[in-house]
Amino acid sequence: MPSPHVTFLSAPDESVAGNILSVDLAALADNYQLLAEKSGAATCAAVIKADAYGLGLEQAAKALWAAGCRTFFVALPQEGARARSVLPDAMIYVLNGLVGDSSAVCADYYNSFSLRPVLGSYEELDLWETYCASIATPLPCALHFDTGMNRLGLGRKSAFMLSEKWKQNPPSFIICLIMSHLVCSDQPHHPLNSQQLDRFRSIRACFPDVPASLANSAGIFLGPDYHFELTRPGIALYGGLAIGDHPNPMKVVATVKSRILTTRNVPKGWSVSYGAQEITKRDSRLATLCIGYADGYLRAGGSSDEKKGAKVWINGYEAPIIGRITMDLTIIDVTDIPHETVRRGSWAEIFGEHIPLDDVAHHAGTIGYELLTSLGLRALRRYL
Ligand SMILES: *Cc1c(COP(=O)(O)O)cnc(C)c1O
Repeated sequence: MPSPHVTFLSAPDESVAGNILSVDLAALADNYQLLAEKSGAATCAAVIKADAYGLGLEQAAKALWAAGCRTFFVALPQEGARARSVLPDAMIYVLNGLVGDSSAVCADYYNSFSLRPVLGSYEELDLWETYCASIATPLPCALHFDTGMNRLGLGRKSAFMLSEKWKQNPPSFIICLIMSHLVCSDQPHHPLNSQQLDRFRSIRACFPDVPASLANSAGIFLGPDYHFELTRPGIALYGGLAIGDHPNPMKVVATVKSRILTTRNVPKGWSVSYGAQEITKRDSRLATLCIGYADGYLRAGGSSDEKKGAKVWINGYEAPIIGRITMDLTIIDVTDIPHETVRRGSWAEIFGEHIPLDDVAHHAGTIGYELLTSLGLRALRRYL
């Protein structure tokens, strides 16, 4: 049975699947262990938002729990509810805070599923304060302070003001975590890293007894100063590249393969795919794969005479995309590959062990994060 969140667009089984997303849960567990080691004395949490970066929230959550992870972050309350169904005893934080503006939301999601909102504005503090007072139960939450992202979080001055106010008049809720988020952690030498660190230290000084968290995946690799009590990796767990221009130390978790539907010989000088953007430079043999941008194979990763596209891997050989990626299909040039290894029914690796996720993303002008989270709609998922 497909899990309920997988839409009817995904193939019912492998016999008719056009493309398959394999998720190596053992590699995910190994990546967690490595990040936990790299986190030193800090506890390592896991970010499983956006369906665990497109790989399946429930499966990832269970594997991470088995690997020893006890604290999880999602973005939205409904993700938290799903996580709770497989993680009865975990701490689950909702990064986007109190999504929704009524106490009913607090009751139906945050309280019902024991989710901890990450509060980042005075409006949210008021809502949580009022709700917790109304049920006379001090529920846990985190406070998010903005140190440079300008996205979510309370201002720095609020840290001092709030901590002074709460010394006189304790809030109706319990603050379990102070956090902020790094802007440029993927660029280790960027001056904003140490500026944010200084700002965060001054904030945490206002709440000396509360555990603190600053580092995402790349932040862990910035060193112990950035670890505080809790680290929050996402992309590195799933095998993505955390730091640019750096060999990727993580194991491959996600592999996408696509089926060859047909092959053909095309003489030199013919155009291939929509828009006639690429012309065969020689007598060519082409193969058509059952994957396109509606499967999350981003259209920008296609090829033209001006700009080479991503490559795929088939039985030990690389083959480049030729022409545009279309909605459901992609054409590759297999002229240099022995014919017997490329035929209808052969499988091509789109990314995985041989074709790095981040290379494909780079060809599409984007990052591994976007490619992974784009895969959800039609891929048949297989868990190893
Ligand atoms: C997504 C997110 C993370 C995880 O970031 P990665 O770069 O994937 O490790 C951590 N903290 C916050 C606030 C996030 O939004």
